[in-house]
Amino acid sequence: MKLHKSLLFLFAGLISISACTNSPSGFIQDPNSVNSVNDVAVSSTTRTNAVVEIKLKNAKNDLIALSTSGYDLFGFDASKKTIRARVSQDEQNKLSQKKYSFTMILENNMDSKGLLPGYMSADQMNAKLQALASQNPNIAKVSPIGQTWEKNNIFVINITSSKNPDPKPGSLFIGGMHARELAPPEIMYKLAEQLITQYGKDPAITELVDTRDISIVPMVNVDGRKQVEKGNNWQRKNTHGPGVDLNRNFDSHWNYQGLNVPSSWVGDSTDTGSETYSGTGPASEPEVQAVQNYYGKKKLNMVLDMHSYGEMFFWPVGFSNTAIPEVNIFKNIYENSFKKIEYQGGTSMSLLYPTTATTDDYAYVKHHILGLGMEIGQSFRPSYSEVDDMWKKLGPNLLYLIKVSNTSLTRR
Ligand SMILES: [Zn+2]
Repeated sequence: MKLHKSLLFLFAGLISISACTNSPSGFIQDPNSVNSVNDVAVSSTTRTNAVVEIKLKNAKNDLIALSTSGYDLFGFDASKKTIRARVSQDEQNKLSQKKYSFTMILENNMDSKGLLPGYMSADQMNAKLQALASQNPNIAKVSPIGQTWEKNNIFVINITSSKNPDPKPGSLFIGGMHARELAPPEIMYKLAEQLITQYGKDPAITELVDTRDISIVPMVNVDGRKQVEKGNNWQRKNTHGPGVDLNRNFDSHWNYQGLNVPSSWVGDSTDTGSETYSGTGPASEPEVQAVQNYYGKKKLNMVLDMHSYGEMFFWPVGFSNTAIPEVNIFKNIYENSFKKIEYQGGTSMSLLYPTTATTDDYAYVKHHILGLGMEIGQSFRPSYSEVDDMWKKLGPNLLYLIKVSNTSLTRR
């Protein structure tokens, strides 16, 4: 361990983080121009709980350089041009060497271990979902879509009435892919609760439940979530070995396969210590297989994967700045919904940094349906009263997504 650490320090002196010179337009043209540090990416075992807020000089280049160098990034603020990272001493040193300006910060509510008051545990949420469905069997049904690595069930609640014949336009809403992000599963539960309890009372919701087939998986990464409940507040990945980032494990250009991108982009995702480690192969993880298999059980037309934090709305694809042919359909949905509550909208590449094998890219690339992603809120661990406030803003826009889940993409 000691040797490992001193080696890292030795390398740190030799290698610098590039605030690279690559062009963000389209695919990056010259892989050799990218000089990142993924060859000495820092293992998560050496990562401390120190959090820094980094001031970005050239936001796009800095974000790509930091993400492809293995930093655990979160909480991008477009107006302040800052991003946060949980860093090791070694990573702090590298930031200094490259003359990044950064300040140490305390992450909201990270000191209190486990769940915060008001949040449901995984078991409590499953029990409440079952209760919701059993009290409203005419429109709701709970079933497992598969199991996690540790053989915990992953549950879906399916909401639709029998008033109109099947198949109806299907949508799948996903939360809890990353365990430390506490708000999305609660928002997903509230969405299910609203649809079910307002059916027959609110005409707009009644119409949605009668004409759409809505599936909600509030918590995919149940194993990771149980780690958070035990006090491992920073747990992001699943619990298979070093942990796999489920949102880099889908069978869609896994590890940038089939794409002409700099080799440095791939490097970080193959490092087991990285928070974006993508696993041993496409859909190697049972949690990801469970979600992918659900496409065979329902005729899905829209998938939304909700994360935190930052206030952003994503559409495909995450690995290129070249717009997809149907981009205006996505822009139109955004402009009628989350733009109105001042969320940023765009691709992962345009708003943050490159990604592949994500839930939303898989939906679009492999199934040619509306693949959507979100980052919500302003911390991993908002107090529960903040979640209530978030729901008031997000709820109407999520209902709008259900309404437009009958939108089909024009065949390319
Ligand atoms: Zn996430």
